[in-house]
This record gives sequence, C-alpha cells and structure tokens, in this order.
Amino acid sequence: MDQQGATTDKALVLFSGGQDSTTCLAWALQRYTHVETIGFFYGQRHRVELDCRDPIRHSLSARFGSTLGSDHVIDISAGMAALGETALTGGADIVMGAEGLPTSFVPGRNLLFLTYAAALAYRRGLRRIIGGMCETDYSGYPDCRDDTIKALQVALNLGMQRRFILETPLMWIDKAATWAMADRMGILDVIIEQTHSCYLGVREQRHAWGFGCGTCPACVLRRDGYLAWAQ
Ligand SMILES: [Zn+2]
Repeated sequence: MDQQGATTDKALVLFSGGQDSTTCLAWALQRYTHVETIGFFYGQRHRVELDCRDPIRHSLSARFGSTLGSDHVIDISAGMAALGETALTGGADIVMGAEGLPTSFVPGRNLLFLTYAAALAYRRGLRRIIGGMCETDYSGYPDCRDDTIKALQVALNLGMQRRFILETPLMWIDKAATWAMADRMGILDVIIEQTHSCYLGVREQRHAWGFGCGTCPACVLRRDGYLAWAQ
C-alpha cells in the first residue's frame, strides 16, 4: 500500500459488536467511501460481543452498500493479563472502586485501542479513526474524555507523522440520543437483535432493547436509554 495514500474519505472504526460501536460503524458507512473495522480481544470474560461482529458487519454492509472493507481483530490478551485483572477481564464483581471508578475500568484501555488503531490506519492508508467514546454515560472513565482523545490525536500525529482525525460521534450525546441516532439511520433492528452490551454475556434473555441479563451496569444503561428514547 502507498504510505502517502491516506485520504479524507477512508476510515477505520473501532468495532466491538456493542451498541455504541455499531452505531458508529453505520455513521461511518454513511459518510466515507471506504470503511474498515478493528476489534480487540483483551481477555474479556466472554467472547459473545466479538462473535456478534461478523453478523453485524454483514447486515450493515447489505444496508449501506459496498463501502465496508477488511476487518482486523487484534489479540492483546496476553499483554493485558500480564498487567493484572480487572472486573471485565477477571472474576471480580463490578462495583465502584477507589478513585470513584468502577472495577470494570481497565486502565488505559482506550489509549491502547486507539494507538493500535492508528498504527493499523497508518499501514492501511486510512485517515479517519472513529470510536464510540462518550463523556455522558460512561462512569467517568478518564480515557473516554474528549480532552483525552484530542490529546491522543496530537500525540499520534506527532509520533507517526500523519494527520489522523479521531472522530467520536457519540461524545456529547446520552444513550437515549444514541438510540435515536440508530433509528434515524434505519438500523434499530440491527441494534436490538444483533448487538451485545451485557457484561455477563447473557444472550438467552430478550428484552425490548435487546439481549442481556437486564441487571448489570451495561444492561441498565442500555435499557434506561431505550426507555427514555421510546417515551
Ligand atoms: Zn447484563
């Protein structure tokens, strides 16, 4: 690939198979002529979310035309395991821990994801890097903050001598507005039937807002957003 070939209309979406990243993928497919996806296995308790990725890609590709390109899954589980467990990767319950952060917080996770994504985008000639980070709903995870993303964009561009643009279409909207966005893009069925948010990996229980245990923090956020939007 031509290393100088980056153009403004090629994008890489951080795509986990969850509600937010699926919304971002559809958003990108509406805007850019070529869109690739990157996902991470970092030792999640379950692989349900990752297993949702292919069917979702298939559905969105059918809906938005032929702009969807390659998928890249990066296994960083060994490195994350070496750094120690959190509630998302180990066996602990998800509760509020020290410093007001939930024990599901994986320190620096989004910094790692975006840095891997930029390294891949460099090689693939993709300029836009899109993630579902959001300041509004996410328990104050410091690596989801707008200032963090903007600072990282500067660091990545300096460190790789590129002009990447990090885009976070969900940064300033809440979960109800994310549901509304999916509705406007005509992908509500994909969000409900095919995406996965539940921390516990439950796919056996179907609610109006999709599959999940209905009680973990991710399910509650998704459900409450749905109910607020559906009013
Ligand atoms: Zn759940």
